[in-house]
Amino acid sequence: MVAPVLTRSPEALRALQDDALAQMVALCERGHPYYQRLLRQHRLRASDLRTTEDLQKLPLTRKQDLMQAPEAFRLTLPELPVAERVLWDIAYTTGTTGQPTPVYSTTHDFYATLECWRRLWTIAGVRRTDIVANLFPLTSYPSGAFLRTAISSIGALVLNALPGASYPPFPVQRSVDEVIDLVVEKEATVLGAVPSFLRRLLMRAEERQADFSRVRLVCLTGEACPPGLREDLRARLLRLGARAPRINVRLGFTEAQAAFVECEEGGPLMNPAPDLLFFEIVDPASGERLPDGQPGLLVMTHLNRRGTVLLRYVLGDVTALARDRCPTCGFTTERVLQPPVRVDHLTKVRGMLVNPDVIHDLLAAQPEVEEYQIVFRKEDPRDPYSRDELVLRLAVAGEATAVSQAVAAAVREAVRVNPVIEIVERAAIFVPGAGMKARRVIDLRPKPE
Ligand SMILES: [Zn+2]
Repeated sequence: MVAPVLTRSPEALRALQDDALAQMVALCERGHPYYQRLLRQHRLRASDLRTTEDLQKLPLTRKQDLMQAPEAFRLTLPELPVAERVLWDIAYTTGTTGQPTPVYSTTHDFYATLECWRRLWTIAGVRRTDIVANLFPLTSYPSGAFLRTAISSIGALVLNALPGASYPPFPVQRSVDEVIDLVVEKEATVLGAVPSFLRRLLMRAEERQADFSRVRLVCLTGEACPPGLREDLRARLLRLGARAPRINVRLGFTEAQAAFVECEEGGPLMNPAPDLLFFEIVDPASGERLPDGQPGLLVMTHLNRRGTVLLRYVLGDVTALARDRCPTCGFTTERVLQPPVRVDHLTKVRGMLVNPDVIHDLLAAQPEVEEYQIVFRKEDPRDPYSRDELVLRLAVAGEATAVSQAVAAAVREAVRVNPVIEIVERAAIFVPGAGMKARRVIDLRPKPE
């Protein structure tokens, strides 16, 4: 049973979002340092922002704004009831600087997140009878994916496998082999993981001929999962004994403590919490809101939070949204129409605009390529004016020369840049569990002045 809010008429849902927004903005006007200042600067009052249409009067908030002053984004209202003030937990998001930025959740926010995840898991196909293996790593700061998978609000059993780089003072993290043992021993039926980690785990499980026959569903988040990678994972699961495993992909944001979730495999991604989160698309150049269906920057607004509160926050993905009834699931909540592209991913190589996601897609679809890394560097590292080089570092199974030639030809065809291929060991690219994700793109070129 999915929450009734998801199937309201589009008009009723918009009215609900308008009401929630008006209350949220009123709270910000009373006790949110950043938005109090922004409203003053733009001579706006909360009463000017009563609907999601009105929201367009407010300037966008950038990730940089949050990173520079995360405390200024916390609602501070001592008169609120205790559940709305008490700090329940903190998740961290990382930006380009690598410095983790805190996202504060009060008890109120945590309960909202549990409700959101109850819907999200239901849409993804997780059932109360499932045994969910939480394969998100235990990292040096709490990540939303780990925290929110660890507590099931739908009554399923959760096995927290705790992979991750060992922390010597208290080495509680488990190795990949120990994680595999747990999945087998506890007969997990659902695996929740980051795609690159899951792929390595499945590779190792294949080497050990482990029995994953009970796995029926895989829930992925944290990285893109192009069709080639999805099929690669499915083939490995089938070889491990799984019967018709389903793969569900989410698009999650730490700042939201929520995710868009596929309502069918490979289908549209739905906002499971339109009562908590409003999404819009804006023109990347002008910042103006774009009509539904047009691609642009994805922007999020909290509708009912008490800890970190963000209004018109630019998430950094380019995609398009629809709000009519989803032809697949019938929900009227926002849905993402096309696979999102991270805007900061596009880069120029020898004058050609290259989207590394296209290369990801190609490499993930090559069964012989076990791991890969995309590196941009200068031909002569001591000469900042030498030519750009696109280097593909590959760990391959099988005959390296043939694989290299095939990959080079496919990449040249796709991005019109001739890549340099370097063959390396798997561990040189990615040690499973060492971080949240594999580092797939490295740009070693000097930053432009
Ligand atoms: Zn749908």
